[in-house]
Amino acid sequence: MLQARDFIDQEIWWEPRNGQCSVWFDNWTQLGALHYYLPINHDHGQLEEVQQLMLVEGWNNTLLHEKLSEEVSNHITSNLGRIQRSDERDKPWWMPTSTGEVLVRMRIVNSVKCCICNTNAEETCDHLFIHCPTAYCLWREFAEATGIQGPMVQLRQVIQLWWEADCGSKLKPMLHVVPIFIIWKLWKRRNIVKHGGCMSTHNMVREINKHLYLFAKNRYPWLKNLPNTWPMIVKLLEEYSPLVCCRVVYWMHPPVGRYKCNTDGTSKGNPGPSSTTFCIPNEEGNLIFAEASVIEACYAIVAEVKAFKAGLKYCIENDLLPIIMETDSFIIKKVLDGVWEVPWSISVDIQCIKLWMENGEVEVVHTYREGNRLADYLANHIVHFVGTNVIQFNSTQELPQLARKILLTEQRKIPHIRIKKMQNKSFST
Ligand SMILES: [Zn+2]
Repeated sequence: MLQARDFIDQEIWWEPRNGQCSVWFDNWTQLGALHYYLPINHDHGQLEEVQQLMLVEGWNNTLLHEKLSEEVSNHITSNLGRIQRSDERDKPWWMPTSTGEVLVRMRIVNSVKCCICNTNAEETCDHLFIHCPTAYCLWREFAEATGIQGPMVQLRQVIQLWWEADCGSKLKPMLHVVPIFIIWKLWKRRNIVKHGGCMSTHNMVREINKHLYLFAKNRYPWLKNLPNTWPMIVKLLEEYSPLVCCRVVYWMHPPVGRYKCNTDGTSKGNPGPSSTTFCIPNEEGNLIFAEASVIEACYAIVAEVKAFKAGLKYCIENDLLPIIMETDSFIIKKVLDGVWEVPWSISVDIQCIKLWMENGEVEVVHTYREGNRLADYLANHIVHFVGTNVIQFNSTQELPQLARKILLTEQRKIPHIRIKKMQNKSFST
């Protein structure tokens, strides 16, 4: 392992920028560490970092020739050209040899020929995974169904073609894994052939196809009609369309003799700048009171609970009972009903709310965001007000213009359409 590290170290070229790498032990000349060029008892003197050999622009040629051998200093001036000293750290580059073969990199052999084809080609990464006839066929075979086209020169560029292909969101993850399966299969076959075995192209196609089918099945387990061949999988996922579900939502007036309090909490960034709002309209839909507050940055669920708690506290203190507490947080409704477990982050506030609800004059109702628009608007409104922490409104007239418009649509029971995309489980082509 340590021996390998010494070999690998020499394959990293440190491009001089601020020149902090070592003159003797780092490979900054592309020749390997200079330490190896020197007699064992060589006196390094005061020279430690490459920056000592650098002027603001270019090399200090006098010092180069004085401290290093003629061969090395000539190599530096002719190959590393003009350098510019900067504040950036020296940049490491991996200097791969022209072949991907590990043995060549380790300098154990000079070159390795491809064992798959008879073209006498060097076994480079690009040859093995792209230009070797079998590899080329495999890429073309799987690209055909997707319409992916383009020059196939370098492995990196081919992977990029697949990753950046223009397609729908359902097909995208499939196109991301195709290169992985193809490269893996080619590498596997190369090793089998190298050790005397064989694997036909037909077999490779069949196995990659199977992997892709299993991947799709794992990714979309709810799709009932998933075909088992790659071209058909592509066709299905490309043509897939979700079910669209529409629901009419509107704000409901509280029944006579009861109050209603709509609450909403928002967190920009989750966690991030957060705010809470509650608003209490009367049975005609006019505003009795509303309050929007900026709170400490927290998660959305925490903001929702804090808003609910603030609203409930206000109603109890001002004797606005019996009250219908309306929230658009499904979690709060389920937690207060005792159906779901309380997440730890809101357990203290939930306990407090449950205690206040014990007198039985509080009913908790869930609504959709479209039915909670005033609270939603005010919570978003205050979060953008720098320097303002609490705003209170004591009547409809005090509300901002847009909030008044929302209240008016709620009073008039103008419905909102809630559109939701749903999984189209039985979709087929
Ligand atoms: Zn080949």
